[in-house]
Amino acid sequence: MLTGKHLIAGEWVSSEKTFNSAPAKGESRAYSDGGAKEVDRAVQAAEEAFWYYGYSTRAERAAFLNKIADEIEARADQITEIGSSETGLPEARLQGERGRTTGQLRLFASHIEKGDYLDRRYDPALPDRQPLPRPDIRLIERPVGPVAVFGASNFPLAFSTAGGDTAAALAAGCPVVVKGHQAHPGTGEIIAQAIDAAIKACGIHPGVFSLVQGVTRELGAAVVQHPLIKAVGFTGSLGGGKALFDLCMARPEPIPFFGELGSVNPMFVMPNAAHARAETIGKGWAGSLTMGAGQFCTNPGISIVVKGESADTYIDAAVKGLEPVGAQTMLSDGIAEAFRRGRDRVRATAGVREVLTSVCDLRNATPYLYVTTGQHWLGNHVLSEEVFGPLGMVVVVNDLDEMRKLALSFAGQLTATIHMDAADTADAQKLMPILERKAGRILVNGYPTGVEVCDAMVHGGPYPATTNFGATSVGTLSIRRFLRPVSYQNMPMELLPEDLR
Ligand code: NAP
Repeated sequence: MLTGKHLIAGEWVSSEKTFNSAPAKGESRAYSDGGAKEVDRAVQAAEEAFWYYGYSTRAERAAFLNKIADEIEARADQITEIGSSETGLPEARLQGERGRTTGQLRLFASHIEKGDYLDRRYDPALPDRQPLPRPDIRLIERPVGPVAVFGASNFPLAFSTAGGDTAAALAAGCPVVVKGHQAHPGTGEIIAQAIDAAIKACGIHPGVFSLVQGVTRELGAAVVQHPLIKAVGFTGSLGGGKALFDLCMARPEPIPFFGELGSVNPMFVMPNAAHARAETIGKGWAGSLTMGAGQFCTNPGISIVVKGESADTYIDAAVKGLEPVGAQTMLSDGIAEAFRRGRDRVRATAGVREVLTSVCDLRNATPYLYVTTGQHWLGNHVLSEEVFGPLGMVVVVNDLDEMRKLALSFAGQLTATIHMDAADTADAQKLMPILERKAGRILVNGYPTGVEVCDAMVHGGPYPATTNFGATSVGTLSIRRFLRPVSYQNMPMELLPEDLR
């Protein structure tokens, strides 16, 4: 069962210091509180493992990923039980998230077997070319080396110990050191046990995976600053992500930090759509806004409608949809506290009207809805900041020109959504060039929560949605974060990587 220890290169290791977990329900327990010493041991082992794992075949890595998925499934009930007690998430959500996690691992297994991700290119030699001959040049993507992954509070499975970042890095051929999230250390440990079992079953170097637990800022800093770490995957807050990004840039050898920092995911309701179905769209928005207590990076926190009768109907429908939701348990005391601070910030802003108020105490959150005008919005930058939780804001604009001005004022976003009818097409076309510059994913007549894990998905976007606009943290394209192209010039066949021969 649970040891309360770190998993470092196949060994369960304890630290002198411990911290106590703070589960939503059930008993707290002690976990080892790691620091620079444990990080160094894990990263040194990862570096050693890289000389083997980085040269493993795609078939070997695919078998390993599939085996991790099997081992997670074999611990299904245990994972749901501890995950639900630590995070307060309903059992059905954890079961669904487990399916997504094993699905991601299996998807990466089949993705690397196809081999397209290697992006192999070949320019044959042109010895007779004038004025100069061309050499034989071949290109292939190679794994970057040991990767650090930060477990996310809001996805204890799909974005944590064996989540998307870990799956992508292992698929690429990179060993992984996970810094577990303190909100769910027990869930992290059981998943680490599953990975450990898969490593042993597949005969892989144990340094390929380590989990270090802890609660100090020194631990996170030690992970990103270790000279042998070559890239970082992170999901979390703008403040935490930016601090770690700055540490990565300040290293003697700066490294890429792939931070997914969230956004407010604006939703633009076009006039004809609002006229035809304001009630349906408003109710749908309320559902998306409160899913998982609003603790999704794709939560559509802000919707924009043109003033008039349809806007009033839309707001009424959203209130009706939000009222019955009631209290939901938040992921941690800290996140509940941050939600209350965010609500107070919005509440205190001039020109903002609270149309749905509720009670939000301890670790609970109930929905809030605010309304403001386009003019107030544009004058108050604070309103565009993410409030992580079930809080919605309707911005009522005077006309479509003001809607476009608002769209232009947004910082980088993970998603942007348009609700439209055929008669709105010309106006939606005018919004598109703006939204393409702002968001990683643009949707029509849907809601952004629920991110499909597939080949064509981009879960990314310009800063501050992420720290690297060329990347995605969901879908098969996310493997690119942990690869580096290498060219081979006039190389004898025997020296080429196996996959390039
Ligand atoms: P977080 O505070 O950013 O923490 C994420 C991870 O980074 C944790 O392991 C944390 O360690 C570490 N960390 C943060 N700042 C650090 C620093 N300066 N130096 C070293 N390590 C650091 O995110 P969170 O704990 O998941 O949630 C807090 C807030 O983040 C939420 O209220 C919400 O606003 C936001 N959030 C957003 C998303 C999103 O997808 N948009 C997802 C989750 C959370 P410690 O736990 O030890 O501090």
